[in-house]
Amino acid sequence: MEKNSYKLPNLPYGYKDLEPYISEEVLTLHHTKHHQGYVNAANALLERIWNARESSGAQDKNTEIDYKSVSKSLSFNVAGHILHEIFWKIMAPTNSGKNKPQGEIIKAIENNFGSLERFKTEFSETAKSVEGSGWAVLAYHKEHGDNGSLAIIQIEKHNVNFYPEQKILLCLDVWEHGYYLDYKNDRAKFIESWWNVVNWEEVGRRFSE
Ligand code: MN
Repeated sequence: MEKNSYKLPNLPYGYKDLEPYISEEVLTLHHTKHHQGYVNAANALLERIWNARESSGAQDKNTEIDYKSVSKSLSFNVAGHILHEIFWKIMAPTNSGKNKPQGEIIKAIENNFGSLERFKTEFSETAKSVEGSGWAVLAYHKEHGDNGSLAIIQIEKHNVNFYPEQKILLCLDVWEHGYYLDYKNDRAKFIESWWNVVNWEEVGRRFSE
């Protein structure tokens, strides 16, 4: 039986490199504690599922699990892992030359939202208005219309409201763990600052895939 566990990816930049928009302290904690936590939890759940599978039918073992609770928790932790993996990649330091919006993705945004400014407003409002913890996501739905379409989606927690058919091009984590030490309760200010470190080159690459 094949067993693949999840791994914490390295960041494509240093912990200090997104300053002053995201501090070294916040980025370090976010990556090494929070993201690592989702990876560890997902792997622990997989371990339990594998154990239950392997011992199924054995009379002397009682490893059967509560699939309702395990599946729900696995969905939360795996989605948390996947979103954070994308989140690290769609940011880049301001001296990287990757923060300038350009190319086909910008044309697609203009076609779908009217203008880049309008898109940013709608995306920021979506992020600001997440109740509790969650994400704002720009997703591409290829089956919709002749050329596909872009949509802004609000995800609660890591996995509520997410549609697997849609490819995530850009995502913003508005869990408090991602900004509270830097911005306190001012989520709007964090969102405004975050636009400075968006890696448009990577967003464009994901779109052209
Ligand atoms: Mn997070």
